[in-house]
Amino acid sequence: MMVYEHGTLITVDPQRRIILDGALAVEGERFVAIDKAQVLCERFPGAERVDLHGQVVTPGLINAHVHTAQAMIRGCADDMELIDWLGKRVWVLQGNYTEDDGRASAELCILEMLKSGTTTFVESMLAERYGFDGIAAAVVSSGIRGTLAKIVMDVGTYATKDNWMHPGMVEDRETSLQNTLAMHDKWNGAGNGRVQVWFGPRTPGGVTPELYREISVLARQRGMGITVHLAEVQADRVYLQEHFGRTPAQYAEDVGLVGPNVLLVHAVWMDANDVAILARTGTNVAHNPASNAKLASGIAPIPEMLAAGVNVALGTDGGPSNNTYDLVREMRLASYVHKARTLNPLVMSSEAVLEMVTIRGAKALGLEREIGSLETGKQADFVAFDLDKPHVVPHFNPVSTLVCAASGADVDLVVIQGRLVVRGGEVLTMDQERVLKEAGKRAVALWQRAGIDSRPRWPVF
Ligand SMILES: [Zn+2]
Repeated sequence: MMVYEHGTLITVDPQRRIILDGALAVEGERFVAIDKAQVLCERFPGAERVDLHGQVVTPGLINAHVHTAQAMIRGCADDMELIDWLGKRVWVLQGNYTEDDGRASAELCILEMLKSGTTTFVESMLAERYGFDGIAAAVVSSGIRGTLAKIVMDVGTYATKDNWMHPGMVEDRETSLQNTLAMHDKWNGAGNGRVQVWFGPRTPGGVTPELYREISVLARQRGMGITVHLAEVQADRVYLQEHFGRTPAQYAEDVGLVGPNVLLVHAVWMDANDVAILARTGTNVAHNPASNAKLASGIAPIPEMLAAGVNVALGTDGGPSNNTYDLVREMRLASYVHKARTLNPLVMSSEAVLEMVTIRGAKALGLEREIGSLETGKQADFVAFDLDKPHVVPHFNPVSTLVCAASGADVDLVVIQGRLVVRGGEVLTMDQERVLKEAGKRAVALWQRAGIDSRPRWPVF
């Protein structure tokens, strides 16, 4: 039994209570009591105690869209058009990955996420060449929760026929599909239930409608989730209209990519009818405002989706598109960008944004009964932020302080499934020095192997 006491608790429970001088009692992997510190002090006099005085505590943060293999190619394609960004940099580098590169990049990504308060993430597209086993093992040993979606594809193009993928990124239908099922058999539920294995089919253009339909049926039979990039850029919407005469959500519904077990990524180019389809079918959306802004993809109609009843979670996307995996910083942009677009400061509150990285993220993963809020009986996943710093004092509304002023660097302590994984800002379950050194070394070799010029654009002396 552990009691974490004297923190300000933002519970995100059904009443959305904020408990001043609160305490969390944890036994094994679950919360057994959440109340005022004084109450739990009297109730559990013999428990081991951790003092969270001056700290603000939230449920563990849930990053709904991550590419772990892209941490090692952070900043590889800044200020480029999407087609060049993918075809000349990202796919070329990723197409040269070895399985050890995939594992080292995932370790770097997980280290960054843990230090910035992410306790659960969705990896949306694991390629065969990244080595699923090594990445799943890194999730298990690090203590984080990971939903790992494996790529399924049967067409080696992205949106248009002339833009062939790097050969190292092309996979055939049978291998990509059968190995997803094999990885589900092997890893789903591993790490005491912290690992989930999902389908991560490529975006329309990389997958035929027949294969999407087959994935949809298999997912239902096996109780698996599906995550897929949809309508990220305007060209995606045009492509679906030209080839199928359908809008993005109409197409998704045609091929079985809707429902509570589906997490659509980006959903930028959606009209009111698309939004209504997502709401009617209970389909989830992962919003990635930094990636959409950096790649000039557009701004997703998130306030409209929330108003229609769509469940929206928040993601960071990857190293070349964001370029960080800090979900706290992502909250700030999610809060601000929709106000700028709609000329309405009321349209996206800090509270709405914090829900996206907690209870809404949990719902997108089908885990809302287990994680996403500080509630007795739920899994003990939480983050304590040290807000005794110049950029976050004073903090009368701790929710707006976290969303608008804090960063992931303010995380002091992280507990996942009752296990202390970050304390004093340091990750206890990973060797930071080794992870940084290996990722740095492998990145240099990878860029050389891929023949990509890594010099800055300004002259270096
Ligand atoms: Zn993505």
